[in-house]
Formats: sequence, structure tokens, C-alpha cells
Amino acid sequence: MPVLDLIDFGRRMYERDLLVAMDGNVSARRPDGTYLCSRAGTHKGFLEPSDFVVVDSDGKKLSGEGEPTTEIFLHLAAYQERPDVGAVLHAHPPHAIACTLAGISLEDPILAEVILTLGTVPVVPYATTGSKALAEACRPHFRLRDAILLERHGAVVLGRTPLEAFCRLETLEHLARILLLAHRVRAPTLIPRPEAIHLRKLGLGRYGGPPEAVAMRDREDADLPLPHDDGKR
Ligand SMILES: [Zn+2]
Repeated sequence: MPVLDLIDFGRRMYERDLLVAMDGNVSARRPDGTYLCSRAGTHKGFLEPSDFVVVDSDGKKLSGEGEPTTEIFLHLAAYQERPDVGAVLHAHPPHAIACTLAGISLEDPILAEVILTLGTVPVVPYATTGSKALAEACRPHFRLRDAILLERHGAVVLGRTPLEAFCRLETLEHLARILLLAHRVRAPTLIPRPEAIHLRKLGLGRYGGPPEAVAMRDREDADLPLPHDDGKR
């Protein structure tokens, strides 16, 4: 039952230090084309069934107590761009946010497992939380990625199920933590691009991903963006 799954993963996000206090929000697509989402002003570690509202595809509340999460437009943009997605989680993972503050890119090929499952993780430039501008800035990234970072703010992860989205959130935060540990010693070296492309093609074949990304699997560079010119190579 989606509401119980969302309650469960809200608690797990809190217990894994992926958000605190009233941070974050969770949602799921319903078979009738409406969406279940956490209401505004709830602690995601202690959600109850009464903390959820149902909204239509414009974000208008159809049932439930209180108001939908202020980030509902972010969730709706993900569902609109990705008919394959059934759940969206938004959290404030501290190491990942720290990377956006420190200018440490998660778009570089650093760890094989991340390339296999997520590809790269884009960072969306700062925009006001809850704004339609933020949702629109994320929209093009949702077509190609299941995990994106919001500068100074947090992460948005997509999945067919809440578990799949949660795994992507954990992977993203784990990568960020490893990157910050490595940077204490030195800037990490990158996986050479031919190997990164090889891994990505393997991952898209083995684990799938956003349909537009999977469709790029046979292209020369698969779906990997061109390298940054940041002097690290
Ligand atoms: Zn947030």
C-alpha cells in the first residue's frame, strides 16, 4: 500500500540522517492519475496516514487534511517527464549538500557502482524552495537522470517504487560522503572516460534507467555528459 511505503521510507530517511525536522517530502503516483503526497509541515520520521493528501496533476488538493507539500511542483514535474516513475523522494542529505557548497562535482566519473546505477548526478543551480522556477529548472534533468542535486538545498530521487528511489538517495549520499573523505587528502582522480562509458553502457543494459537515457546506450558516449573543464584531468 503506497501510503505505508511512504511512511516507512520517510522514517528510514530520517533514521539514515538524510533529513531532519520538517525537511523533505515524499509522493507516489496513483493508478487513477492522481498523486499521494506528504502534507506541508510534517516530520518525515513520524508520518501517519493522516499526514497525506491526494492532489491532481496540477497540484490541486482533492482530499486529505492540510495543504500539500510546498515542493509539490517539483514532484509533479518529475511525474510529468517520467511516466515510468511511481515514487519521488526529496531529502536534505548533508554530505551531498556539502558538496554543492564546496563546489565538488558529482557529475564526474568517480565510482563504478554510481556510474552503473545513476550515471552522473547533475546539480541544479540555486532557486527558491517550493518555487515553480525550481521545478522547471529540474525538469530537463528528470528526463535523463533518476537522482539530481539542488544547490544549497538537497536531493530529488525518482524510482518505480519508493524502495528504488530510496536506494538512489543512499547511493548519492554515499558517493558524496566518500568524495568529501577523499578531498581531505587530495582531489580524487577520475575513472578514464573510455572505462566510464563502458561502465555506463553496462549499467543501462543491466539495471535500466530513464527511458531517454536507455535509448542513448548505443551512442558513442552513451548518456554521459562531456567532461567538465575544471583542470582535474
Ligand atoms: Zn527541501
